[in-house]
Amino acid sequence: LGGSISRAIQQMSNATIIDEKALNDCLNEITRALLQSDVQFKLVRDMQTNIKKIVNLDDLAAGHNKRRIIQQAIFNELCKILDPGKSSFTPKKGKPSVVMFVGLQGSGKTTTCTKYAYYYQKKGWKPALVCADTFRAGAFDQLKQNATKAKIPFYGSYMESDPVKIAEEGVERFKKENCDLIIVDTSGRHKQEAALFEEMRQVSEAAKPDLIIFVMDSSIGQAAFDQAQAFKQSVAVGAVIITKMDGHAKGGVSQQLRVLSFLLVLESIWMNLKSFDVKPFVSRLLGMGDWSGFMDKIQEVVPMDQQPELLQKLSEGNFTLRIMYEQFQNLLKMGPIGQVFSMLPGFSAELMPKGHEKESQAKIKRYMTMMDSMTNEELDSSNPKLMNESRMMRIARGAGRPIRDVMEMLEEYKRLAKVWSKMKGLKIPKKGEMSSL
Ligand code: GDP
Ligand code: MG
Repeated sequence: LGGSISRAIQQMSNATIIDEKALNDCLNEITRALLQSDVQFKLVRDMQTNIKKIVNLDDLAAGHNKRRIIQQAIFNELCKILDPGKSSFTPKKGKPSVVMFVGLQGSGKTTTCTKYAYYYQKKGWKPALVCADTFRAGAFDQLKQNATKAKIPFYGSYMESDPVKIAEEGVERFKKENCDLIIVDTSGRHKQEAALFEEMRQVSEAAKPDLIIFVMDSSIGQAAFDQAQAFKQSVAVGAVIITKMDGHAKGGVSQQLRVLSFLLVLESIWMNLKSFDVKPFVSRLLGMGDWSGFMDKIQEVVPMDQQPELLQKLSEGNFTLRIMYEQFQNLLKMGPIGQVFSMLPGFSAELMPKGHEKESQAKIKRYMTMMDSMTNEELDSSNPKLMNESRMMRIARGAGRPIRDVMEMLEEYKRLAKVWSKMKGLKIPKKGEMSSL
């Protein structure tokens, strides 16, 4: 999706005359890409109208920053449309809060409840889990197992069949025990049913939650809209957690957008346990790279002792052939840093497109063979002029490849250097500022 949008913008900026038709063609292309990804129609139409209002054709005709102007307008519009604008209730440490989870059966409530509790427990909170699901056999066992594994206090019953009673007793008990985050797991049904909504209403009345989180499976697509609205009509849903973002066949950012565009009826959107941050999301969607996600990923997967060096290199912004060589090694190994770089636009999507991994690997190996014929001076220089023809000929001979292969490799280097240069001046977070989950 990001690819086709970027292509549309690219095409338009290549056009010699930017008139209304060229802009319309570009917008239509983008609209088609969004609709093909099942993004809600109204959202797409509003975006198109707004962009037309913002983008001034005279500016485009005169200036040379067409691409930037249009990309920025699309970026702003998508952000505006997707930004819920409000944030939901946030529990405060040491002050008792009740959070209730609702959602259909199998959406991931029980799993997410435990993750949520565990997340806060690691930060020094005193969470507790209440199993108010008496509908599904085995529900209490599942929660008990999860809670025991994570060493989180829990409450539930094999005998009691009234979820309202359990919710009431559980909340009361954990309030007495000075828990500061009491999480109420509830039952679901396979379908949206009146009985389920009535039960949620009653449980909510008994538990008096400060926040109700609606849990939704990311694969449901357009049905998200109806489901979110149905839950919102019976209880005061304040946030949604979208689960199963991992490993879904359709996966990726367009899948997320699709779901999101149907969830704008809600105030606060979380992707798994991270609160949804609209700018990096749209950035990624438009193939502009996601720098904050990138930082998170570095902290998550690069060993602590290797982080400073990598971040230092990034913040200097000097992309040398040696760095490219090292990153190729990582990409081939698909080690931790390989994962990091796969998040950068240009690094993986273009270098290793899905379905062409074999050819891409062969290409990268070919590049590396040529780089093996380079001198240290060449590898460590960030001066593109250094690579004159005689040097290229020498490298080609040394690697036993035609000179056009060397030129191709250097083109790739230039492209990646451009991506890399966006990281220049990157703020390096201090220890403890790292968000990880
Ligand atoms: P509940 O009925 O809403 O309580 O859903 P559960 O928490 O029992 O989850 C239903 C199934 O989905 C279980 O097999 C979970 O392991 C699985 N599941 C839940 N969350 C995720 C997720 O984020 N990713 C994946 N891959 N599976 C999940
Ligand atoms: Mg459950």
